[in-house]
Amino acid sequence: MPLNVTILTPGRCLLKETPCRQVELPVAGGRIGVLENHTPLVTPLEVGEIRILPAEGETVQYLAISSGMAEVTPERVLITVHAAESAEEIDVARAQAARERAEKRLRERANLDIDRAELAMARAANRLRVARRSSGL
Ligand code: ATP
Repeated sequence: MPLNVTILTPGRCLLKETPCRQVELPVAGGRIGVLENHTPLVTPLEVGEIRILPAEGETVQYLAISSGMAEVTPERVLITVHAAESAEEIDVARAQAARERAEKRLRERANLDIDRAELAMARAANRLRVARRSSGL
């Protein structure tokens, strides 16, 4: 049995028990790569990129995620996150607008909730980075 991966968000199941060779997850301080037979663990996920290496072929799938959790067992990875989009479905104009809003708030200090603006900035920058994957850059 190969490793399989499931990705859930509050409104959507992006992947359901999809067979794969490896899943790379953004965690505090870096990334972890999960292969089948991994030691069981539960870990928080950061805003970042998930990479899924397919069970067959070479085409890597890239997804942008917001924070959440991953539960790993020897045969599966269960990812539950606030938001997730594949590289192809990211709306670049929307992410650019979100980044500009966050930049403006941080510049003007118009909003004292700096943490919130920085998190919005991180989500937007991450989406823009992951969206570039779909154009092969
Ligand atoms: P925005 O200010 O544009 O709403 P946000 O970072 O506050 O961005 P989230 O709260 O992370 O948005 O996500 C809300 C929903 O919108 C989620 O379902 C997420 O997948 C989707 N979403 C947010 N931004 C984009 C985008 N640029 N392209 C596609 N889907 C997006």
